[in-house]
This record gives sequence, C-alpha cells and structure tokens, in this order.
Amino acid sequence: MSNWREILESQLDGGCSELSVDEAADIYSNAPLDELMFVASQRRKSQIPGKAVTYLIDRNINYTNVCTINCHFCSFYRTPGHNESYTQTVDQISERIVELERIGGSRILMQGGVNPSLPIEWYTDLLQELSKRHPTISLDCFSPIEIEGISEVSGLSTRDVLSLFRDSGMHGLPGGGAEMLVDTVRSGISPRKGSSDNWLRVMSEAQSLGLITSAT
Ligand code: SF4
Repeated sequence: MSNWREILESQLDGGCSELSVDEAADIYSNAPLDELMFVASQRRKSQIPGKAVTYLIDRNINYTNVCTINCHFCSFYRTPGHNESYTQTVDQISERIVELERIGGSRILMQGGVNPSLPIEWYTDLLQELSKRHPTISLDCFSPIEIEGISEVSGLSTRDVLSLFRDSGMHGLPGGGAEMLVDTVRSGISPRKGSSDNWLRVMSEAQSLGLITSAT
C-alpha cells in the first residue's frame, strides 16, 4: 500500500530528510500532483526563503555535427565525410557568444558529435581563445561521450582530458547522454555509446576536479 501522504508530511515537518528510491517512486506514482507541487514549493522555501525565483540566460552551441556513435534516435549527426557535415571555426563560435552577450547571457552549453578528426589541441586552443574573448561567460562544454572520444583520439585518460580542459578555461560539462542510463535500453538505442558506468565515471571525475556537471 502506498505511503505517499506520510512521505510528503515527513518533508513538511522540518526534517526534510533525503528520500529513498522507493519513497521517491511511491510519491511519483501515487501522490496527487497538486499535493506534490505544494510540498515541493514548501521545501524550496525552507531552503531558499523568499519569493524571488532566478534564472540565467545561456545558449546551446553545436560546434560539430560529425559523429561516429550513430545513436538510433539522433537526426543531428552526420558521418565523417558526409556532404552536410560541419565543424565551426573559433570565430563562428565566438560570434554566437557575442550574440549571447548582447542579450545579457552568462553561459554556453557547447556540445557536438564525437568527431575523430579533431586533435586535442583543437579543443584546448578553442577553450583558451573563448576564455580570452569572453571572460564573463561560463564555458560548459563537451558531454561525457565526447570526452571519451577525445580521450581515445589523444591517448590521454578521460580524467587527464578533463584536467587539461579545466586548465584551458572550461567551467563544467553539459549533461548530454544521460537520456537513458539503463544499460539494456541504452545498448539498444545507442549501442556505441558505452555503458552508463562510463557516463557516471566521467561525471564523477569532472566533479572531483571542481567542474560543474548536469544531467539531461
Ligand atoms: S553521440 Fe550525440 S551526436 Fe552522436 S549520434 Fe549520439 S546523440 Fe547524436
């Protein structure tokens, strides 16, 4: 039997204890949406008092659509040598950031395909140049599968790639690739993407280096 009411009430009594997986599944499946929203709002207020809700303006930049991973759901990628494939120059990427700056933006999420023709210097030069041209913009770049691809091309470990990128000006990673972290499904829709453990390991390495991560 569902305990959704008790679970929600426990979140209102000031304790705000962390939910177990079973509790989260219970309220997700059984609690009425308005009650769930009310408790979520109360809990948010207990952590961040006041009525102000903040947001930031950012921009997605897809620097290359060349990719060798061939996920079944993806209509973005083009195989190496395809006549619709592209890789943007630093000036093209910078111009997109200038447009972001004009409207008060503060962050880019830059990700693309796994492009085997780009050496690691292409990435470090890009990050250094963007940091120099756009010092107020946070650079969240390259999802875990791209970091793995760059690691393979360069021969460096994923941790060393992340460390090099951090030292070149990268602030964090976008969370691409977390659309499915159940391996039986993941291997069906993205057979070349590697296991969910790889995604989690790269994100864990990034966090241990002080990089900010997310999941999308
Ligand atoms: S790794 Fe990304 S860009 Fe490449 S095919 Fe998969 S979803 Fe598309």
